[in-house]
Amino acid sequence: VKKNYYLSPNTLDEALFFLDEHKSEATILAGGTDLIPRMWDKIICPSCFIDIHQLPLDFVRYEDKYVIIGARVTHTQVIDNTLLKKHLPLLIEACSEIAAPPIRNRGTIGGNLVNASPAADTAPAFLVSDADLVLHCMGSKRCVPVSSFFIGPGKTVIKPGEILTELKIPLPEPKTATKYIKLGLRNALAISIVSIAAKIAIDDDGRITSARIALGSVAPIPIRAVEAEATLVGQFMDTDLIRAAANIASHEASPISDIRASAEYRHYMVEVLTRRILISLFEQLRYEDAQLSKLGDRNVQAI
Ligand SMILES: Cc1cc2nc3c(=O)[nH]c(=O)nc-3n(C[C@H](O)[C@H](O)[C@H](O)COP(=O)(O)OP(=O)(O)OC[C@H]3O[C@@H](n4cnc5c(N)ncnc54)[C@H](O)[C@@H]3O)c2cc1C
Repeated sequence: VKKNYYLSPNTLDEALFFLDEHKSEATILAGGTDLIPRMWDKIICPSCFIDIHQLPLDFVRYEDKYVIIGARVTHTQVIDNTLLKKHLPLLIEACSEIAAPPIRNRGTIGGNLVNASPAADTAPAFLVSDADLVLHCMGSKRCVPVSSFFIGPGKTVIKPGEILTELKIPLPEPKTATKYIKLGLRNALAISIVSIAAKIAIDDDGRITSARIALGSVAPIPIRAVEAEATLVGQFMDTDLIRAAANIASHEASPISDIRASAEYRHYMVEVLTRRILISLFEQLRYEDAQLSKLGDRNVQAI
């Protein structure tokens, strides 16, 4: 007779021991907001739960030019965190777009990433933030850049016996602007049709020194629009550059049609939202540093 287990470890070591003992049988339970609906729908039928709600993985700390966020931090805890308000407002914007307060109170950032939905709201934010994911198993740990973490819808590089413990995010450089935009069928409790996060850094002259654009819901996994990013680096922001980058980003997307939107509409909206987000970043940078004469002179119209 097959036994079912519910295990609730108090420490990471204990959790790793259980994970090692039950390997591919083991299913980690965090907030349960993805897992439980999938069980109701009989998509999965786990026989061994390892509930991590008692593990001390709900911290946010600052360490040597990095912000470290525990995997069990809920979306509400992100939104309320003063350190993140200061250093990672982009993640707060993304978490504020998730579902509604009851889900945000239970759902964790670790669960959002490991669930590996192409529509996961925190994924584009972590992609543009160059986050590293720390994965522990019995006796060792490894660091995986979030850009290599997703390998397909619902699939990640996590191996049986491993647990995501924390995310390590480098502090943004000065003169950096970030933003997240989510397009859904309504303003709350909606899975995204297209989502986009972007980050731009400029030098004292206003030249773009680094650019990140990440897209959700328009490919089998959350992606970076690397060619659009490359178009921006080394340039001054202006209307033509924004149009060009937005057009390239749209070509980098490979969306499907589903119940929420057609592939054609998603392509079109990637272009529109990329334009909007870049204009918004430009306005943020100009507002934050009125001394940037080169930026001030540039002509960026609402397009
Ligand atoms: C009504 C509703 C609305 C929603 N709306 C949105 C939305 O707008 N945007 C959005 O992005 N998501 C949404 N979600 C999905 C969900 O709430 C989030 O993805 C949430 O962050 C999942 O976190 P969790 O802690 O509940 O994960 P769980 O359900 O506990 O786990 C999800 C998966 O991750 C694994 N896992 C969890 N933590 C770890 C870990 N530390 N290490 C290794 N594996 C782990 C679990 O084994 C499981 O496979 C919605 C869900 C519901 C029910």
